[in-house]
Amino acid sequence: MNHQTDKGLIFDIKRFSVNDGPGIRTTIFFKGCPLSCWWCHNPEGISPETEEVFVTEKLDGKDFLRKKQVGTWFSVDELMKEIEKEQVFYETSAGGVTFSGGEPLLQYEFLLKLTDACTSKGIHTCLDTSGYVSPEIFKSVINSFDLFLYDIKTLDNEKHIKYTGFLADIILANLQTLADAGKQFIIRIPVIPGINDHEENITAVKDLISRLNNETKELHLLPYHAIAKGKYLRFGREFKMSGVNEPSENELLRLKSEFEETGYKVKIGG
Ligand code: SF4
Repeated sequence: MNHQTDKGLIFDIKRFSVNDGPGIRTTIFFKGCPLSCWWCHNPEGISPETEEVFVTEKLDGKDFLRKKQVGTWFSVDELMKEIEKEQVFYETSAGGVTFSGGEPLLQYEFLLKLTDACTSKGIHTCLDTSGYVSPEIFKSVINSFDLFLYDIKTLDNEKHIKYTGFLADIILANLQTLADAGKQFIIRIPVIPGINDHEENITAVKDLISRLNNETKELHLLPYHAIAKGKYLRFGREFKMSGVNEPSENELLRLKSEFEETGYKVKIGG
């Protein structure tokens, strides 16, 4: 990887986002993730390198293929210019900026510089993380963010390795660190039928979150959708989710009421 700390590799910037934390937000998508979840909606965020893909464009009613680079190196100043464009909306909606990806902590040195710049301008910062980062790094950065969106995928070790590439042990240790430090965090659970929605896993996750010190007590269920399938083909990645259905509304409502038993406020969607 082209390792830089004065620039960050970003693959998207989403404005007026209302699903990545409170209020109206700008979401910055960091390129590169140590995991490779089968259901990832942003496969273009997994490789920590710039990539070139072909996209189809219409011109005079005809389709043309155009080469497009995915991933751009930005300095803190360049990103702050983008982030500050919407500052008035953050102030009126109690919003801010969310760092997502990919896994933003893979570029933690640059991320901390960017977060410091946001904080110095009074902009609320939220980190959307898989939690898969060394516990030493995690401990050293947690006080820099106002809020975390923290993913729990499955507590079944075999499934965690099969579907993400790694065990969940580091993720769970970092989650405990967050709770012990009294930080604000929202739990996010992707709902993937046949993979993590069985009773044993749901019961284990309920037990886990009930034991955590978490003032926020908010949980988001993120339904799997197959919309990203085309991106896998474009990025030359194998799409392994054929045959996995999107969760039905009834299934989501069932899980919502299950998790509400823990005292968490549960939302379907981000
Ligand atoms: S942790 Fe998130 S960004 Fe990384 S591969 Fe999994 S779903 Fe994608």
